Amino acid sequence: MFICLLIAKIRLFIKKTGRKAFKVRKMLYFCTNFIEVCKKMKIVVLAKQVPDTRNVGPDAMTPEGTVNRSALPAIFNPEDLNALEQALRLKEQNPGTTVTVLTMGPDRAAEVVKEAMYRGADGGYLLTDRAFAGADTLATSYALSTAIRHFAPDVDLIIGGRQAIDGDTAQVGPQVAEKLELNQITYTEEVLACDGKTICVVRHIDGGVETVETALPCVLTVNGSAAACRPRNAKRVMAYKKTEVPKLTCADVNADLSQCGLAGSPTKVKNVENIVFKAKESKSLTGSDEDINGLIQELMESHTIG
Ligand SMILES: Cc1cc2nc3c(=O)[nH]c(=O)nc-3n(C[C@H](O)[C@H](O)[C@H](O)COP(=O)(O)OP(=O)(O)OC[C@H]3O[C@@H](n4cnc5c(N)ncnc54)[C@H](O)[C@@H]3O)c2cc1C
Repeated sequence: MFICLLIAKIRLFIKKTGRKAFKVRKMLYFCTNFIEVCKKMKIVVLAKQVPDTRNVGPDAMTPEGTVNRSALPAIFNPEDLNALEQALRLKEQNPGTTVTVLTMGPDRAAEVVKEAMYRGADGGYLLTDRAFAGADTLATSYALSTAIRHFAPDVDLIIGGRQAIDGDTAQVGPQVAEKLELNQITYTEEVLACDGKTICVVRHIDGGVETVETALPCVLTVNGSAAACRPRNAKRVMAYKKTEVPKLTCADVNADLSQCGLAGSPTKVKNVENIVFKAKESKSLTGSDEDINGLIQELMESHTIG
């Protein structure tokens, strides 16, 4: 009787410890899996403050043909907000990840860093110096990449908008990738997965979508059709409204003056024309065959088509 009881107790003990061991193993497995999947990453978001060229009036340009910045409200470049959203999603999925915003421009451009912080970014830098003024895309990407080398030499991911609405070149993201010798994925629609070593992204290209994967560190540029950025968070606004955005100068990032601003810019914008359609220059057509044929005839005569 005693022996039977002892065997039953030993079996129960083995069963219990076995189960426990299984649970512990399972827990360890999940923990290691979680640690494996969730990598702390350093993400830098490139954000530009731009004049709102979507609502231009007749005074949008100066007589010299440059953008009259005082006549246009300064806004967060729209596609940079899409870029920020992708970065914030990765931060949520990968605890410990930091999102740092980098902007280059005059003092007031610091507003975009704070705006990004109100929406979830950890902090950022304003790259500002007289020597950066008049930069074309080459000098802009030189300055941005030099700054990234300075404050985030171990960056995992750099995310920017596809293009800025004032210059519209879409060159800066790819040029930053070239200068830092990083892989690049342009036209990003959505980040599907990122394990801290590789990233899988859906690209929206002409005529379809493409799913591509590359190794980190890399540069992404994000389309305006990607997910919209989350709104400001009231608590974050209260917490960061008095934050001073740290500034970086040419000297701080050890930039070569001959590659900065006007001196480092082979492209010169000679003249920019502002074309504002006035009501009397527009026509209303009904969509009838007659109207369409008339329009085609008119466009052919003016050599616009044909
Ligand atoms: C009407 C006009 C035409 C121009 N044409 C040319 C041209 O043909 N060639 C040329 O070299 N320059 C040109 N420029 C100058 C060009 O706009 C600036 O060099 C600008 O700093 C970078 O180019 P972009 O705005 O076209 O950026 P894009 O390449 O369109 O920007 C792509 C992304 O890069 C990031 N980024 C760009 N600038 C900054 C910044 N200052 N700070 C942080 N992130 C940034 C953002 O994430 C942005 O979404 C032009 C400017 C104007 C106003």
